[in-house]
Amino acid sequence: MPSVASEHRQAPELRVPYWIDEEGNPREPLKLSDLGTGYKVLYCFQHWCPGCHATGFPTLKRLIDALRGRGFGFAVVQTVFEGAEENTPQRLQETQSRYSLEVPFGHDTGEGDQPTIMADYRTGGTPWFIVIDPSGRIIHSDFRVDADAVIALATKGEPEGRAAPDGQALNWKQVVTWAKRGNPAPPRRDERSDSAWRSFLTPEQYRIARAKGTERAFSSEMCGLFEPGRYHCVCCDTPLFDAGNKFDSRSGWPSFTQPLNSGVVGYHLDTSHGMQRVETTCNVCDAHLGHVFQDGPEPTGLRYCINAVSLKKAGHAVA
Ligand SMILES: [Zn+2]
Repeated sequence: MPSVASEHRQAPELRVPYWIDEEGNPREPLKLSDLGTGYKVLYCFQHWCPGCHATGFPTLKRLIDALRGRGFGFAVVQTVFEGAEENTPQRLQETQSRYSLEVPFGHDTGEGDQPTIMADYRTGGTPWFIVIDPSGRIIHSDFRVDADAVIALATKGEPEGRAAPDGQALNWKQVVTWAKRGNPAPPRRDERSDSAWRSFLTPEQYRIARAKGTERAFSSEMCGLFEPGRYHCVCCDTPLFDAGNKFDSRSGWPSFTQPLNSGVVGYHLDTSHGMQRVETTCNVCDAHLGHVFQDGPEPTGLRYCINAVSLKKAGHAVA
């Protein structure tokens, strides 16, 4: 990416003493490993810095919106090298909610005359963007960052439908966050008309996948199928699940612990039938898949309870 820091040295561990979490509550000091195993973006600001608000935060917001759920970790640090009476810890929560940034915020005044991040990362002021690659090297450190170049990092090496987890920590909390605050970016979109779907789906496929129906429990032999392979969306053919993540839930519906990658499934709060559930859809064409529950096995603790009718095994349909 452009304007890459020339040094490419290993990112020093964070020494910032005061932090609030994604929801504005005090938390223990953040470590780099708390931001996951993928790319990490650190954004340094001071409350009274006009450039931080004019360009810094809008750029950060764009990055977070585009990269949420794609294995990127974000943290914001107020690096106070001047104006300590204005740039107070109280400003963290205020700024976090002002920009609707659900990421940890730190407050860094340093021990001597410099905030720890300025000393450790040799930053030159605020606003300041630091990008760290998955191997822990600093690949960018500057007043500005090319947001498109950072977003492009997310799609690099992300072949369609790869079976390996994509670095996104997947758990119930993440599912609820997506359902409430917006889904991960889909790999593509397919927005065919209603009549186009009707033209090739069977009435039963249409009733379930397009009209949010539910098949009878134990109505498909797919529940008992565990042969290797992939399960695609019956509507748009996007690969959604891998047989390696399928398990026997005895619920009467095909069940998976996770999708093929985090971008292919969408999550929606569903309060129909007097229940509070999370509906799952194909994130590409919005086909209704089923629901996800928090009573699944390791490693995610999730149970994706999916209508067999909404799926087809790669290459052939499963009755
Ligand atoms: Zn689909």
